[in-house]
Amino acid sequence: MSLSSHFTKRKVTKIIKDTASFNSEISNLNIKIEPNIDSIPISKITKPKRKRTIKHIKLETEDDTLSNNNINTPIPNNFFPIYNKIKEMRKLIITPVDLVGCIRIPLVLKYITQEYKKSPNLFKPLKIEDLPNIQSIIDKFKIENSNDRYQLLVTLMFSSQTKDEINFIVMQNLHLHYLRKGYENGLCMESIISTSESEIDSLIFQIGFHKRKSSYLLETTNYLINNYNSDIPNLIENLINLKGIGYKMGNLILQGAWNITTGISVDTHMVRLCNMFGWYTKDKNPENIRKYLESMLINHKEIWNEINPVLVGFGQSICTPTSRRCDLCLLSTINKKNNVICPAIDKRLLLRIKNGVDNNERKIRGDLANLIDYINS
Ligand code: SF4
Repeated sequence: MSLSSHFTKRKVTKIIKDTASFNSEISNLNIKIEPNIDSIPISKITKPKRKRTIKHIKLETEDDTLSNNNINTPIPNNFFPIYNKIKEMRKLIITPVDLVGCIRIPLVLKYITQEYKKSPNLFKPLKIEDLPNIQSIIDKFKIENSNDRYQLLVTLMFSSQTKDEINFIVMQNLHLHYLRKGYENGLCMESIISTSESEIDSLIFQIGFHKRKSSYLLETTNYLINNYNSDIPNLIENLINLKGIGYKMGNLILQGAWNITTGISVDTHMVRLCNMFGWYTKDKNPENIRKYLESMLINHKEIWNEINPVLVGFGQSICTPTSRRCDLCLLSTINKKNNVICPAIDKRLLLRIKNGVDNNERKIRGDLANLIDYINS
């Protein structure tokens, strides 16, 4: 092994210098020491190899402390007027979160299993355009066993940085892949642990952070098999200890899988809307907004469960990040005090269309037909 490849020039110079200084100190003893670099064992001069570690990055924010519900935060004056109007609109529209949101996916997968087993060769994956069919499917099934709960955990793990529609396609394809391979339950713990990380990665490549999620999925699945008897925990403290699961997902898992409400789940639509309506304007940190909302609604716990789908669906279809539909939105109407309820209304759009609905071709997520009929009536 070449010495030069392990020895830096600076180290050699230092050894020579040290030897020279030592020689001068012992010069009166008539002994001379030569710098014998070759005598130094390679192990001492070889740079220690840096241990390669995979950094654990949470897909959600690291600040997963539980709520401080002791602080009673006042409810902003405009909270209920706005929230109730949004609920009114939500009854008239069907949005992606209502049909292909995470909580719906295990129900759709149950339907797929049933239909695939009837005629494996004829079965075709569902399309997003089949929305009315999906509604009737999800009405028939329930999340009721450990495999349904696991599928919910997987879809929630995949959902961060991924649109509901994409997550729906990926989950469906993954489930079908395992049914075709002969796994009776399709996507399940058994089928996942028999798959390599790289193969999982190639199966879920359409979702955000797919590489990291493949690794977390394998690790979490093994952990659940060994520590939770192939089921998922029913305590938020245990759920947020799983890799890839944070407080937001943990809350949704508890609600969907165990029917337990422990907090409010805040996603990007909720962050944007809470800021826009002036309910919380300090920052855009979902954890801070979650704690704020939980404290603000401490005496309205019936809202904890529903606020996420109510605001998320509204943010997906009416007040979207890129194209606000103020022409359709009931918050753009004048209230009894002659004020517009929404502080962020797009006045130029309303002036342009004056009354009625903007007929420009715009990409719409979901089904707004009933709301449009209501506005036009
Ligand atoms: S900005 Fe427009 S679409 Fe959004 S909430 Fe206000 S009125 Fe409704």
